[in-house]
Amino acid sequence: MLALGFLNNPRSGRTLSFGGPEMQPVATVREILLGTFDAKHVIVRGWLQNKRIGGGIIFLLLRDGSGVVQCTLRKGKVDDKTFEEFQSARIESSVELRGEVKPDPRAPGGREVQVDEGRVVHPALEEFPIAKQFHGPEFLLDKRHLFVRSDKMRSILRVRAVVLSAVREWFDEHGFTEVHVPSLTSAAVEGGATLFEVKYFDQKAYLTQSWQLYAEALIASVGSIYTIAPSFRAEKSRTRRHLTEYWHVEAEAPWCDLNCIIGVEERLLSHIVATLVEKCKTELALFERKLEDLEKVKPPFERVTYDQAFKMIGEEKSGIKWGDDLGYEQEKLLTVKFDRPFFVTHYPKKAKAFYHLPDPSNPEVTLSVDCLAPEGYGEITGGGQRIENYDALLARIREEGLDPKSYEWYLDLRKFGSVTHSGFGLGLERVVSWVCRLDHIRDAIAFPRLINRIYP
Ligand code: ATP
Ligand code: MG
Repeated sequence: MLALGFLNNPRSGRTLSFGGPEMQPVATVREILLGTFDAKHVIVRGWLQNKRIGGGIIFLLLRDGSGVVQCTLRKGKVDDKTFEEFQSARIESSVELRGEVKPDPRAPGGREVQVDEGRVVHPALEEFPIAKQFHGPEFLLDKRHLFVRSDKMRSILRVRAVVLSAVREWFDEHGFTEVHVPSLTSAAVEGGATLFEVKYFDQKAYLTQSWQLYAEALIASVGSIYTIAPSFRAEKSRTRRHLTEYWHVEAEAPWCDLNCIIGVEERLLSHIVATLVEKCKTELALFERKLEDLEKVKPPFERVTYDQAFKMIGEEKSGIKWGDDLGYEQEKLLTVKFDRPFFVTHYPKKAKAFYHLPDPSNPEVTLSVDCLAPEGYGEITGGGQRIENYDALLARIREEGLDPKSYEWYLDLRKFGSVTHSGFGLGLERVVSWVCRLDHIRDAIAFPRLINRIYP
């Protein structure tokens, strides 16, 4: 019988609570379930997600961040003190167990750990406030620091991470360099209505809405570039797809026109989706997202112009006039006509920010593009070709009533070797909401920032 000890495993550097002649390293639940851990006896550590007692056996569901595994404690096999300790342990206590991995078709994942030693590391001091019964969304948001432990949130956070690693993988393999720009800025990118103003010593500053203006400077230094960073928008309307702080994947490329950037977007998105299909089957199943839906996402995506989209929705039903931007309601009407992401191009000038290049063959519209996800989700990316010419850019800044002084350095870029260039921004939480079929974007991020919420 091994003694309960607190040994330091010199190889892993991890403190183990169980030791003895054959010291064992800690296995992750993932390793246990996949059978990739090459020892029959394992030590597992984590949180008590659930507990059931019956017939002298305590069934535990142990969660360790990599997965959930069933662990059983039998009276007589573990000592009485341990059995009693686990009998009274509350859900979400932290625990450490040692036992043998055995196949069990009744256990979730098909394997269980039959425990021979265990201890409660820190017992939960109170009943866990989130129970199996229904809780309203505001309650769950108040308890977000605990709700992040749920299967739902854990799966979403993993999907997020896989999306981001796919993004980096694709850009890195296609000649894009990752660059970072400040979050504190002196001028608006996307218009003043959604700007967060902050005090910057004795000056006024703003939280960034997009990296774009800086990106246009950096393409002349490092060429094709991308970033992954938070963007801030003081969104005053409450919708299911707006956060006030969200993670923005943005790209900018020199010598690249509208058609070229659309190609980048559709290949990037297809890679993201293919990576999810490969690596997140369990998570996608939890959200009842069919893999066939995602397997259809392959380039080329369908393209419609704003004009065509406007006609497809039907002027009366649309509730907007020609020239207005497509909002959530209009996009919803449009997305029912598609079963995979598609592009809307050539938005009217008045629906887009000043830097979008007017179409030389019809200057009322711009060489802009949004990618819309199906099933009512709508816009997941926005971008297009930028104005190259100095005078044209200055005229657009003036036309929008903006102060050219604030954009002096940005205008400078057109004085020193301007080139055809394009870029786009992809909202990470928009993509996650769509692939995970979420009702609200707040669940696509661990701690959402919304008009009425900055706690916890
Ligand atoms: P919308 O019309 O939906 O408000 P937008 O046109 O203002 O979006 P862009 O300026 O084109 O958005 O930003 C690029 C991308 O960033 C969008 O396509 C979207 O995916 C994401 N995004 C924009 N605003 C938000 C927000 N408030 N919360 C989450 N994601 C956002
Ligand atoms: Mg947009």
